[in-house]
Amino acid sequence: MSDFSDPNELHTDTLAIRWAQLRTDQMSHSEPLFLTSSFVYDSAAQAAARFSGEEPGNVYSRFTNPTVAAFEQRLAAMEGAEKGVALASGMAAISSTFFALLTPGDHIVSSRSVFGTTNVVFDRYLKKFQVETTMVDLADLEQWRAAIRPETKVLFLETPSNPLSEVGDIPALAKLAHDNGAILIVDNCFCTPALQKPLALGADLVIHSATKYLDGQGRCLGGAVVGPAKLVDEVHGFVRSAGPSMSPFNAWVFLKGLETLGIRMEAHSRNTLVLAEWLEQQPGIVRVHYAGLKSHPQHELAARQQSGFGAVLAIEVEDSDGNRDRQAAWRFIDGTRLISITANLGDTKSTITHPGSTTHGRVAEEDKQRAGITENLIRIAVGLEDLADLKADLSLGLKTLGF
Ligand SMILES: *Cc1c(COP(=O)(O)O)cnc(C)c1O
Repeated sequence: MSDFSDPNELHTDTLAIRWAQLRTDQMSHSEPLFLTSSFVYDSAAQAAARFSGEEPGNVYSRFTNPTVAAFEQRLAAMEGAEKGVALASGMAAISSTFFALLTPGDHIVSSRSVFGTTNVVFDRYLKKFQVETTMVDLADLEQWRAAIRPETKVLFLETPSNPLSEVGDIPALAKLAHDNGAILIVDNCFCTPALQKPLALGADLVIHSATKYLDGQGRCLGGAVVGPAKLVDEVHGFVRSAGPSMSPFNAWVFLKGLETLGIRMEAHSRNTLVLAEWLEQQPGIVRVHYAGLKSHPQHELAARQQSGFGAVLAIEVEDSDGNRDRQAAWRFIDGTRLISITANLGDTKSTITHPGSTTHGRVAEEDKQRAGITENLIRIAVGLEDLADLKADLSLGLKTLGF
């Protein structure tokens, strides 16, 4: 960008629209899409200089691509990070970070309430390379403290958590990590930089599944890691060799998604709070889990470190005979007509799912209990449809409970 060289001069919503603007000699106003796998050189000598790294510039889109670089720079600016690297998916971002930064014998302490597939990476793949993970309750600082070993290198969490909207204390966990020679990594997928900036709260790296709110319309898979150059360069080194690079086409979609992120997250949060408060009043709803509610045990902490509460809520249902079981939850879900039955989130379209038999279906019964994934629990990721239509649709679900 020509007139601004310091992202601190601009606010997040402006960075989302204006930062890392790519302009070719065609002077297009919208970002150009460099849909190319490779780049050409003026001479053999220049090719050699580019390959050796002596001369900066693009070589091959697995290494760098201008559209992908624009997305990386814009997201990094929005998160207040020095640098960013984009990857093929959120899981590519998570697994590449661990493979790049850890060595056999290292140890991770992670919140139990992380994305299901993240658990698979810990249990099946990192373990294979002698990296062990200890799981703790997100909100219990004492458990985090007790789990730390001399070889602990990473503390990892998502906040707020999926699906119960529990909140992790980022400043406290950052201090705990740093006092013990470890780093704190936060998966900021649910809040995005529009609502929460983990680096400013003390975290060392932020991870994203761009697939969710950064796209915002359920089109493309992508991921990103942002933070200090020293750490991000390690991850980028892994990506360019191991290969989980972001497609330039997807980067272009995410650049467009970022432009509307602020207003979308505000509208998502507003819709969700209204629905959460309304659901709390309905017969058949035993409990609503949403950090935006005053009744949420960590409402204060969430209000301190987030500027909005996000768009994922969970409800526990009970039918008019007092049953709090899977049948009641499934009937409620099947009773809705508008809301999509799918486990995805971060879309303009509202979605509804039964975590116990889908996203957490493979979790052992004991771990489900401990994580609060009860049989009568339903997760709703609230979209941007009209609130009256969403209420009417959820009323159809309530009717199946006998109310
Ligand atoms: C979806 C999700 C991921 C994984 O992202 P993909 O893009 O599906 O690989 C990671 N973390 C959280 C919190 C998610 O919701």
